[in-house]
Amino acid sequence: MHCKPLGVLFFLLAVSAPASAQSGSQAPIRGFPPDALARRAQLETMLRQAPDTARLRRYLLTMSAEPHHAGSAAGRAVAEFALARFREFGLEAWIDTAQALVPWPLARRVEMLSPSPYVLRLEEPPVPGDSDSADRGQLATFNAYSPDGDVTGELVYVNYGLPDDYAELARLGIDVRGKIVIARYGRSWRGIKPKVAAEHGALACIIYSDPRDDGYFTDDVYPAGPMRPEMGVQRGSVMDMPTYPGDPLSPGWGNRPGARMLPRDSAATIEPIPVLPISYGDALPLLRNLAGPMGPTDDWKGALAIPYHIGPGPARVRVALQFDWQVRPLYNVFARIPGAGDPDQWVISGNHHDAWVNGAHDPLSGAIALLETARGFAELRRGGWRPQRTLLFALWDGEEYGLLGSTEWAEANADVLRTNAVAYFNSDTNSRGTLGASGSHTLETLIREVARDTRDPATGQGDLEAIVTRGLERARSAAESTRVRGREFRISALGSGSDYTVFIDHLGIASADLRHGGAQEAGVYHSIYDSYAFYTRFYDPGFRYAAAQAGAMGTVLLRLADAPVLPFSFTDAARIDRSYVAEIDSLAKRTLRDTVDLAAVRGAVDSLAASGARFDSALAAVTARGTGWLDRNRRALAAINRDIYQSERDLQSEQGLPRRPWYRHTIYAPGFYTGYGVKTMPGIREAVEQKDAAEARSQSAEVAAAIRRMAARADKAARDLMALH
Ligand SMILES: [Zn+2]
Repeated sequence: MHCKPLGVLFFLLAVSAPASAQSGSQAPIRGFPPDALARRAQLETMLRQAPDTARLRRYLLTMSAEPHHAGSAAGRAVAEFALARFREFGLEAWIDTAQALVPWPLARRVEMLSPSPYVLRLEEPPVPGDSDSADRGQLATFNAYSPDGDVTGELVYVNYGLPDDYAELARLGIDVRGKIVIARYGRSWRGIKPKVAAEHGALACIIYSDPRDDGYFTDDVYPAGPMRPEMGVQRGSVMDMPTYPGDPLSPGWGNRPGARMLPRDSAATIEPIPVLPISYGDALPLLRNLAGPMGPTDDWKGALAIPYHIGPGPARVRVALQFDWQVRPLYNVFARIPGAGDPDQWVISGNHHDAWVNGAHDPLSGAIALLETARGFAELRRGGWRPQRTLLFALWDGEEYGLLGSTEWAEANADVLRTNAVAYFNSDTNSRGTLGASGSHTLETLIREVARDTRDPATGQGDLEAIVTRGLERARSAAESTRVRGREFRISALGSGSDYTVFIDHLGIASADLRHGGAQEAGVYHSIYDSYAFYTRFYDPGFRYAAAQAGAMGTVLLRLADAPVLPFSFTDAARIDRSYVAEIDSLAKRTLRDTVDLAAVRGAVDSLAASGARFDSALAAVTARGTGWLDRNRRALAAINRDIYQSERDLQSEQGLPRRPWYRHTIYAPGFYTGYGVKTMPGIREAVEQKDAAEARSQSAEVAAAIRRMAARADKAARDLMALH
């Protein structure tokens, strides 16, 4: 899943221009002593040279050969292929089976009954030059977790189908009650569109891909170019993930064979009304038959050659859908390299292996890189290296449906993960472009130092420098160029949309998502055209960015697996928290008459900044003692490191966020009405947005307490380090 209009999720990572873009094999690495740097450089160079573009190509050819959605036989074969590769590398590997409600489409009929009858095609045709587009076994175009239904009504165009769009409709006096709405893809997690439509009384929701958003408005359409063709359709889940992701029948507990399951009609994350995605080829006849007012602003216009009338009607449409609601098995694939020093401290990385169809880009571009990262570590081990901590590699099943495999596994193993998980690193789609990262800000310095030391494979530039170069190319004014040059490297906050969600949002495990991309616009997301032919033509022809991804992720994992003192930074966390408080403060001044007293949160952030500074000096003092001293104190350091990584757990609130207790992180959550889009300090921010001053006050107390817990933990780690010193 994920990916989507590239600009949004991707430039995430913005930047800094360190005066010297020196790849510093000898630059300091946080958490390591100076006398270890030469050995670290040697190990990291080996790890970054290990990924082999010929192997990456072979993996992709095999894994993308057949449609392999969750629950399919081909999906199981992809899992078995990955298992065989891990074992071929010499790693301990296994498949862990979970299960979940995985509906497949049985019957789909959408037709315009009047004024001019038209039966929608609902098919993506094969294209010349891409034999995979004619594969048998493709999952029909649909939105997973739409309910069954057969409804008829007048059609209303609702733009992107978000709350603001309905506010405009209300101003125009248009009511969607008893109607069928048609929304375009974009600007939100797709599951928000039917949710908001149902809240306004609509009978069903059709979602189409407007060429303005990922079609001919940008470039030629596939196969002439990379954009979405006339009959191309974006499949995708509409599960209400902002409430909880994972199996709808087992919220909060792992669903394995024999587990308790809710009856389907009490699962809160299945959409209330039927919903189906269509192509712009199928949308055009419908939209052409709308009358009534035009959209109130130009923002309501797409790129079809029609006036964008809103309706209602005269188009009268029937939507009839039926699904095969079965609980199906999920195959999560794991490989492990046990830690030699602290085997109970786990550094985890994961990427999903299930796809909507062939999925060369989503998810296999990231999955093949993960395989090569694992092989690189196997090579290091053959050379005599052993990780200090345990490395765990995961290839998840059922991500597209709603993060099923990762969520069910992590819920089933919640207790041991709370104790042992140091951090979780996610990847998913990967393609030509700059290295991007989002995640827990305690990991920001770690990731910045890795980007300092890795290189863009096309230009040989350091990744930090490449990010600046790209920012300068995109800058539209001298002032913007100056800003790009002066900006520090920052990672952005995580919303939702890939498998990190359960780790960070439910279990409080520091997490980050790392990927390359942004250089190629495309319109094949979740369609039959996300194929090997497309990928090798547009996304990463020489597999160099897959290799770069494997190397960059490997470097992050290696540093975290071996660092004598874990390189978390509370200073970074305090700095970003301060910026969130300022944003919320100005939001409250604009939207709430009542002011929200954020003094307690500000005070907590101040104390986190102070504790963070004490921790930074303690870490520097202790690592300066050198390798021998650190080795002799390994036992004591293991306990301190446990405190350091468990600090992310401190940011959780026990009762969770209002109206969605599965989400427990007080700093990051996907927005209740944006889905993919992150809301930082979500409890306070969403209360302010909903103009609920009382809830904003109680949530401020929660956030302040959470940040104070983290500050106390940072202080304890600093004290314990200094006591050793
Ligand atoms: Zn994906």
